[in-house]
Amino acid sequence: MEAIKSTLKYVPTTCPYCGVGCTLNLVVNDGKLVGVEPYKRSPINEGKLCPKGATCWEAVQHPDRLTHPLIKKGDKFEKATWDEAIDLITKKFTEISDKNGARALGFQTSCRTVNEDCYALQKWARVAFQTNNVDNCARICHGPSVAGLSLSFGSGAATNPFEDVLNSDLIVMWGSNAVEAHPLAARRVMQAKKKGTPIIVVDPRYSATARLADTWVRFTPSTHIALANNMMYYIIREGLEDKEFIKERTKGFDDLKMMAEKYADATRIHGVPQETVKDIALQYAKAKNAVIIYCLGITELTTGTDNVRSMGNLALLTGNVGRPGVGVNPLRGQNNVQGACDMGAYPNVYSGYQKCEDAANRARMEKAWGVKDGSLPDWYGSTLTEQINDCGDVIKAMYILGLNPVVTYPDSNHVKRSLGKLDFLVIQDIYWTESCQYADVVLPGTCFAEKDGTFTSGERRVNRVRKAVDGPGESKYDWEIIGMLAKKMGLKGFDWTSAKEVWDDMRACTPSMFGVTYEKMEKPESVHWPCPTEEHPGTPILHCGKFSAADGKGTMFGLEYRPPAEVADAEYPYTMMTGRLIFHYHSRTQTDRCEDLHREVPESYVQINTEDAKELGIRQHEKIKITSRRGETITTARVTDDVAPKVLYMTMHFNEGVNNLTNTALDPMSKMPELKHCAVKVEKVA
Ligand code: SF4
Repeated sequence: MEAIKSTLKYVPTTCPYCGVGCTLNLVVNDGKLVGVEPYKRSPINEGKLCPKGATCWEAVQHPDRLTHPLIKKGDKFEKATWDEAIDLITKKFTEISDKNGARALGFQTSCRTVNEDCYALQKWARVAFQTNNVDNCARICHGPSVAGLSLSFGSGAATNPFEDVLNSDLIVMWGSNAVEAHPLAARRVMQAKKKGTPIIVVDPRYSATARLADTWVRFTPSTHIALANNMMYYIIREGLEDKEFIKERTKGFDDLKMMAEKYADATRIHGVPQETVKDIALQYAKAKNAVIIYCLGITELTTGTDNVRSMGNLALLTGNVGRPGVGVNPLRGQNNVQGACDMGAYPNVYSGYQKCEDAANRARMEKAWGVKDGSLPDWYGSTLTEQINDCGDVIKAMYILGLNPVVTYPDSNHVKRSLGKLDFLVIQDIYWTESCQYADVVLPGTCFAEKDGTFTSGERRVNRVRKAVDGPGESKYDWEIIGMLAKKMGLKGFDWTSAKEVWDDMRACTPSMFGVTYEKMEKPESVHWPCPTEEHPGTPILHCGKFSAADGKGTMFGLEYRPPAEVADAEYPYTMMTGRLIFHYHSRTQTDRCEDLHREVPESYVQINTEDAKELGIRQHEKIKITSRRGETITTARVTDDVAPKVLYMTMHFNEGVNNLTNTALDPMSKMPELKHCAVKVEKVA
């Protein structure tokens, strides 16, 4: 017993799953992970974990891990050396770029990997190939948050920290099932509820989070703008707008007022009785400090950016920005959604959201990266969704780091066809995924437990990730692989020897993050960006006294409601909504390799309303076929009144699941596909 004890090591690190960023200790015995232990000093989760966090170590040492580079020869993948793989990739990418130009390459990185990997990939793409075709999977979750919050407030990030809900007098959760998707953020909401803070949940479905609410507002799916405008009509009619705040700190009120008047009674659109609309509007406007928390119910629509701006409108109209207990906070589904965007893995900005179109920014980055004057491109690169649409046409080769597009992007059949059209595809991952079969080279990276680095949580807090064990076989740090590729091409500025060196490279050219040092991150509370100097304490609450926009003002917009791209009709009479489960994460690459999580939900299912099931003769747990204009899936029926008649709900975690059905129609501003809404038909399987 003594001998076992003496070899145990506790490594404090950050949970690899959702964007709450809980801290935990990985327990290591004799070089192997054996469990997790609470990290009680964490100000985020105070030693508590959800089922995913508590089991996050189990998938790390699974025998399915990728251990060697693989190169496709004919139809088969064969083990290769790192030299062979690096030679082939640099040769093919250079050839394709020389022949077809900088726009022929696409680079996509994951919101699940550390900041240092994201920074390295976008730097390599821009320096080596002079392309801005670099993006990350925030595009298909919170792209509209980046666009919408930037337009409303001047910064595309959450305004206030999670625990700040304890300072609120009213919490509005809109399009967020935090109890399942962000359990430790929901814990803060539960703490607030316990001390008497009223909770309003706005969701078409009676979700686990709706069960927490004092007021649950069921509305017609995807009618957010109409509902928000209708609320603002009542706020203005009752004279409850914050006149001084509007005058001193905002612009656009007249446009907003005019638009709100058009929505004086929009029940025919959103389906909510006017007494309820008025009641929640007045509750929000009268609260001393009211916060809005939202998630993908708001963003994953073709109106995503306008939905986010509607949340901004509500907050600006009532002066609920820029102090404790207020704000507009998107909950990020993946551990590093915030960070991947912050690192400049985005088609129009460098790290810290420095715009590529600005000549002064380009000149500064050229100097920092030691590249020729005028070599960095000024054009807006192709987004992740556009790259998939352009495969085989403009895009000839693609580099995908830590993503499984076949399962997680909309319209799986379209994604498979697109990847199949590429001349050359590299996938760098930790497991063999459904997407790997379309690759020419598969490279083994390392997971969160095997490397140092940082994740930036949804509250802009930069948290340390620490290496606990070695990666399997010949796997390498992901930033190290990018460094090898760059060095093979003779590029300077990629000879990092540690994650800290990558981070220091980034912060040296990123004014808003210059003061976020690894040393500061040693404290359990770490630091929130912006943090411009090493002496700066960080900024937990944004927009205090002045908005981040160039003129210092918040902007209100008059926004017209637009219906989804595809609505139910006679042929496809049901509306399909999508979401997450507490037990799984994304395409289940990791969580399904954990026995307990697999056992909880081993296969996909669909929620269908009791009346609809009766009409179709479908009983509980029977198999049903669901078909959209793009594909079909067979799944198990869960008959329930949690969804309204003619509305279905499926989670997004399963292969050959809901993304066989979803629509690729895009939000024109953020290029977000309409993952949350499509029209389908339902049949009982004989
Ligand atoms: Fe991990 Fe999110 Fe669960 Fe926290 S709430 S333990 S970050 S999955």
